[in-house]
Amino acid sequence: MSISSMQALLADFAARRGWEPFHTPKNLAMALTGEAGELAAEFQWLDTEESAQVMNDPDKAHAVRMEMADVLSYLLRLADVLGVDLEAALKEKVAINEGRFPTEVSMTRDVDR
Ligand SMILES: [Mg+2]
Repeated sequence: MSISSMQALLADFAARRGWEPFHTPKNLAMALTGEAGELAAEFQWLDTEESAQVMNDPDKAHAVRMEMADVLSYLLRLADVLGVDLEAALKEKVAINEGRFPTEVSMTRDVDR
């Protein structure tokens, strides 16, 4: 499914429920942040090895997939409402990061942005 197809699916879901007035950039950004927190909560208190094995537990794997879908949904919806071309934005950001983090020094640089 393409990005635009996913956005159309989500726009239709919202439209059929009359949710467009609530899908302001502010609300969508806040919802995205909340869902990212819910995804992070699935890993809270797990040690490194446990987090790497999380998909081996069917219940935990399902929870992780659903939170990832929530994050993706709100990101796609936010991009749609703002008119952001996510594919172009991703390509631009990777190009910027290629310059910021040359491969020959990438193991010694901070990667916090
Ligand atoms: Mg959620």
